[in-house]
Amino acid sequence: MSYAKILIVEDEKEISNLVKDYLMASNYEVLVAGDGEEGIHLFRTSNPDMAILDIMLPKVDGFEVCRTIRQESRIPIIMLSARKEDTDKILGLGLGADDYITKPFSPRELIARVQSHLRRYSELSEPVQKSDALVVGDLEIDPKAYIVKVRGHEVPFSVKEFEILHYLALNMNQALSREKIFEAIWGFNEYGDINTVTVHVRKIREKIEEDPSTPKYIETIWGIGYKFKAPKK
Ligand code: CA
Repeated sequence: MSYAKILIVEDEKEISNLVKDYLMASNYEVLVAGDGEEGIHLFRTSNPDMAILDIMLPKVDGFEVCRTIRQESRIPIIMLSARKEDTDKILGLGLGADDYITKPFSPRELIARVQSHLRRYSELSEPVQKSDALVVGDLEIDPKAYIVKVRGHEVPFSVKEFEILHYLALNMNQALSREKIFEAIWGFNEYGDINTVTVHVRKIREKIEEDPSTPKYIETIWGIGYKFKAPKK
């Protein structure tokens, strides 16, 4: 098996070297770009399996790099954020980032997340013999192709958004806590930020609900989490 190739886009040499050393020690192949333009160029020419993006970058910022990669690929993307205020933005802007880590971070934490995202990504890249698309109301959720159709039209979903929607739909009519959803999707609890689930659900509602303020599919269960249900006719 070939080792996963990871693209780091970070202008602070000290950080990129540190991350690079840790990733290489875990047997990953690593590419480093020092600015956003080079990052996009390396992404297009080297076909990485994952990207780790700083936000404040020379030439093209991390948000823009993320958006560009997501338009062309489903690879996992982790954002490195220097400010807590950026974290909502990362998940909320529809950039398609899968995760974020706030600086300063421990390299061990980063590696744990890299491994977890890559594992999921390789699972979904493998040919799967799963059931066909789930059809609920006007929604069609296809776990083979990772495609969601809303009222007959394909709507782009990030990997995490897709997994949450699919998980909710598989557990239809059950109240699921945010913690439970987080654990099911991210697979680890130690560094979890439960707020991530809320932000993702908000994005999913914007995509599937006709009126996200009065959702028909994903009901909020106050103090607990969410329940997915088929809309009433
Ligand atoms: Ca920077």
